[in-house]
Amino acid sequence: MMQYRDKKVAFGTLGCKLNFSETSTIARSFQEKGFTRVDFKEPADVYVINTCSVTDSADKKSRGLIRQATRQNPAAFVVVIGCYAQLKPEEAASIEGVDLILGANDKFNITKYLENLEKHNHSEVHGCTFQEMTAFHAASSFGDRTRSFLKVQDGCNYFCTYCTIPLARGKSRNPSIAELVTETRNLARQGIREINLTGVNIGDFGRSTGETFQDLLKSLEAVDEIARIRMGSVEPNLLTEEIIRMVAGSAKLAPHFHIPLQSGSDEVLELMKRKYDTALFRQRIDLIRHHLPDAFIGVDVIAGMNGETETLFQQAYQFIEGLDVSQLHAFPYSERANTRALEIDGVVPVQRRKERTQQLIQLSQQKLAGFYGRQLGKEAVVLFENQQDRRFAAGWTENYVRVKVPFQEQLLNQTVRVRLESVMEEGTLSAVLI
Ligand code: SF4
Repeated sequence: MMQYRDKKVAFGTLGCKLNFSETSTIARSFQEKGFTRVDFKEPADVYVINTCSVTDSADKKSRGLIRQATRQNPAAFVVVIGCYAQLKPEEAASIEGVDLILGANDKFNITKYLENLEKHNHSEVHGCTFQEMTAFHAASSFGDRTRSFLKVQDGCNYFCTYCTIPLARGKSRNPSIAELVTETRNLARQGIREINLTGVNIGDFGRSTGETFQDLLKSLEAVDEIARIRMGSVEPNLLTEEIIRMVAGSAKLAPHFHIPLQSGSDEVLELMKRKYDTALFRQRIDLIRHHLPDAFIGVDVIAGMNGETETLFQQAYQFIEGLDVSQLHAFPYSERANTRALEIDGVVPVQRRKERTQQLIQLSQQKLAGFYGRQLGKEAVVLFENQQDRRFAAGWTENYVRVKVPFQEQLLNQTVRVRLESVMEEGTLSAVLI
């Protein structure tokens, strides 16, 4: 078996938490082969770029990172994986200096393709067809050794009209609850205190195994060694009352919800082929606020989707303005190849999309300031992270407030009760230990 004891590998990752958990897992497979992991800015023998293709600018950033690698060491072996590789393998392969393009199914076997690391005359493409994306590959990150992004699901069957992710990641699939409980125990044995459940459509967990997302939460909650469980993005129609009640009654499930709304207009939601309307969305928010008044609620919104007239945008804005949520993640609509949204009339000029997004970002800042303001003087539990910086100890409360206190070694990787005192610069809160 080829060993690479004197070789260096560097990873560049773009996009979602899922990509970061997959890079972390792939990096471990390199270290098992003897590679030394170095920072992406450093010269390396192998560069692996885990790309994103959710928007045009993500494609551009992916190409930029690839070119950065080939510039840093023209002799390096360059591998491109991730959604840009899966969706546009030929385009990625045409970038000078690229040796290998691996699709979603093959990216976990990179070390199998390395051989003697000699550069290829032309780049090779493997496993980039939709049909090949059938297997579920486990992944988890443990960068700061306090929190881990645990991959619990992959792919999506929803095919919203603006979205290219189902084409990049395949059908919805997942491992068994038993496998994830075992993985969670392994992570806890390595010192991890909080797991963040990540995937593409995690609320759809269970498609491959006939299990449910609620069952998964119950089983992970029963893992004694883990202090906290944080859910990633859950589709509104899949965020059931049962789940909200479970979070309200749990000491481990964090009162932190990330819910993609995408538009506050029913007409635009229809154009997007989303699986709920604004009435259902408001009902979910009201339910959370009823059971968990201080929960953090982050909401995704797309501005300037084809067909979103000025009137519909104003309607959408007013709906969102009236929602008691903590923060908005607002993005301008971006045309994606092979998506049905391209057939919808009423293209919004790019500049107008940016202006609408800016309006939503300003609204988000008001909501976040209001949310933080409501936390002042309240008690919370912070999980302080392992970190290099010895000036302060930092961490997240259960309801996703970033907290800093003067540094004490014994705080690291511990859950500690605090009282939130004041809002510092950069949106972090100071606190006193109780
Ligand atoms: S639910 Fe819709 S937006 Fe989300 S990944 Fe699936 S298709 Fe894309």
